[in-house]
Amino acid sequence: MAYRIKFVNPGRNYQMIKDELDAAYFEVMTKGDLIDRGQLRSFEENLAAFAGAKYAVGLNSGYDALHMSLRAAGLGPGDEVIVPAHTFVASASAIVNVGAKPVLVDVGQDFNMDCNKIEEAITPRTRGIMPVHLNGYMADMVRVMEIAEKYGLVVVEDACQSLGSSMVGKRAGSWGLTGCWSFYPFKILGGYGDGGAITTNDPEVALFATRMRYNGEDRQTGEYHGHGFTCLLDNLQAAFLDVKLRYLPSWIERRREIAARYRAGLSDLPDLLLPHYDDPRRDHVYQNYVVRAQQGNEFSEYLKANGVEVLTQFRRPYYRHEALKLEDRGFPETEALSREVCSLPMNVEISDQEVDYVIGVVRRFYGK
Ligand SMILES: *Cc1c(COP(=O)(O)O)cnc(C)c1O
Repeated sequence: MAYRIKFVNPGRNYQMIKDELDAAYFEVMTKGDLIDRGQLRSFEENLAAFAGAKYAVGLNSGYDALHMSLRAAGLGPGDEVIVPAHTFVASASAIVNVGAKPVLVDVGQDFNMDCNKIEEAITPRTRGIMPVHLNGYMADMVRVMEIAEKYGLVVVEDACQSLGSSMVGKRAGSWGLTGCWSFYPFKILGGYGDGGAITTNDPEVALFATRMRYNGEDRQTGEYHGHGFTCLLDNLQAAFLDVKLRYLPSWIERRREIAARYRAGLSDLPDLLLPHYDDPRRDHVYQNYVVRAQQGNEFSEYLKANGVEVLTQFRRPYYRHEALKLEDRGFPETEALSREVCSLPMNVEISDQEVDYVIGVVRRFYGK
């Protein structure tokens, strides 16, 4: 079905910055700079500066960023890592794939790990916490870091949805051992295929990831420092991402404008919970604008039937997929929000008129 309002519009986004992207493409192609060249290093420097960290290491995906981080921290068989019950499956899969056990914790109203439930999930085997900053809004990292220090736990931040957000003025991804980023096309900084990175202040961790992304090889000496992986961020993607990163601050401002427009148009509807929170220490970059509608599928299907493309991540929590063999410890908030979530179109390509159209459809659903 052709939607009148698309969830994202990559073609339109390209037109907005076409000249610069085309120039980046021609430079890479004419020089033949394909693997591990200046464009990658430039992007890594700019990303590290933006995220408030000393180092950035470009990888193939957000998943690889999580995976490399857990390996760098030495986590593996026999270890438990705490992770939220409401997140993208990759957070837990990275833990399982290093041989460790994910221990799930319910989330709060803001879709992030409920910090009051972390301590009850800690056992003598717990060695790490992976807070996820979902939708563009950080988990309460002040609390997470307090708990991590008290129990001596490694913190790996899954910041894949929150590039540019912060708490008490400190950026997402700069709190834990690493911050993990995804440049999947529809992330707030999206490439044209898969991509990811870690940021860190630890030179050993940066060196580890720099070697392991390239089959364990030190590119200067040719020495293999371990059995590694193939998960280097492509130079061409890095060149494109470097262009888009320059726009990110203004694009975040635009996302906040759209969020304010939704809020003004929808906040009087009693059955709809909007993603605006009253913690003055944290700011939202609105990677996603996820509302909670008491009418669940009826609401999301009505929007689609009326030309508005929406996402409902995740109607079925990942721990309810039997093949993943994860322990359901009882997560009432995750269960409730998985029935109610609906992401409205939120991107920098959308016009105010289109946002107003979405608002109009939502209001009509509620008979307003
Ligand atoms: C997108 C995402 C990932 C994985 O990123 P990929 O680049 O697709 O591997 C992990 N965690 C969260 C929360 C994400 O949103």
